[in-house]
Amino acid sequence: MESTRIQIPDELFAPAESSHFEGEYQIDRLEVGPDEYVFCGPLSWQVDVTNTGEAFLVMGTVEGEAVTLCGRCLEEVRVTLGGEVDGYYLIDPASAEDLEDMEGDEFDVLGEDDVIDIEGPIRAALLLEIPLVPLCDEDCKGLCLSCGSNLNEGPCDCEPVEEVEEEEPANNPFAVLKSLKLDD
Ligand SMILES: [Zn+2]
Ligand SMILES: [Zn+2]
Repeated sequence: MESTRIQIPDELFAPAESSHFEGEYQIDRLEVGPDEYVFCGPLSWQVDVTNTGEAFLVMGTVEGEAVTLCGRCLEEVRVTLGGEVDGYYLIDPASAEDLEDMEGDEFDVLGEDDVIDIEGPIRAALLLEIPLVPLCDEDCKGLCLSCGSNLNEGPCDCEPVEEVEEEEPANNPFAVLKSLKLDD
């Protein structure tokens, strides 16, 4: 199945029935705040769909590889993103009204032609797994604030703290504090 759409087979309309589905999700990129993840290939997903009587409960996983930039040194980093997919698709759209008051729980409705689309739950699963700040290495030293050298490749010739103050006194909030002190 090369999409996130699952055609619910007739036998799954019997309460307590459950079936396993697998597929691939083609997504090129995902933007999360300042970070962009470019996927290396389609993501693979696998879920169990269970008929609870009033809804199709979807539970499974998704996994894929993406490339993004390290938050400190801006080098490309390859990350594996994987997460738990869960969704809830009401069989009878009319019952959705009863659930309007339900807090916290997300639900959807069985689509026309007995299809459910799990793209939403898959994206939600990926977003949950994405790191706040992607790093090439937990010990990444980042870039020199003065000359921009990648400090993972070795130390630069700068003396970091002094250099910053001399070059950009206007942009440095501490420069103001310094002059206040001089007035004392
Ligand atoms: Zn890095
Ligand atoms: Zn430097």
